[in-house]
Amino acid sequence: MSHDPNCIFCKIIAGQIPSKKAYEDEHLLAFHDIHPWAPVHVLIIPKTHIATHAELGSEHAELAGRMLVLAPQLMKELGVTGGFRTVINTGPDGGQEVYHLHMHVMGGPRPWAKG
Ligand code: 5GP
Ligand code: ZN
Repeated sequence: MSHDPNCIFCKIIAGQIPSKKAYEDEHLLAFHDIHPWAPVHVLIIPKTHIATHAELGSEHAELAGRMLVLAPQLMKELGVTGGFRTVINTGPDGGQEVYHLHMHVMGGPRPWAKG
């Protein structure tokens, strides 16, 4: 399990920065985005530090699958019934701000602030 001491999401995983957790297991953490774009807006992250989606290789297939599979489970648990949107921003041209791989999962009745 890799950890970057300068990474804000690694600090959230370590409990050094508080977050509103939505799900946790040995591989993944999900927490509510601090600036939500939608009524429900969670971030799903791997517990190991992977900077971007561009760094994912075939060795990460199971982990990436876990992230994808968690999204609908979590939306159901959070009462989202009308569908949801998943977004992964990658690198500077992808608008990524936090360099720890994360999947935005957004749902709830529209209108939304963004997207
Ligand atoms: P990105 O542009 O990298 O895809 O999105 C990063 C997201 O992380 C943003 O939506 C931002 O609001 C969220 N974020 C940044 N810092 C924190 C934090 O300390 N706590 C939480 N809960 N969300 C954060
Ligand atoms: Zn990290």
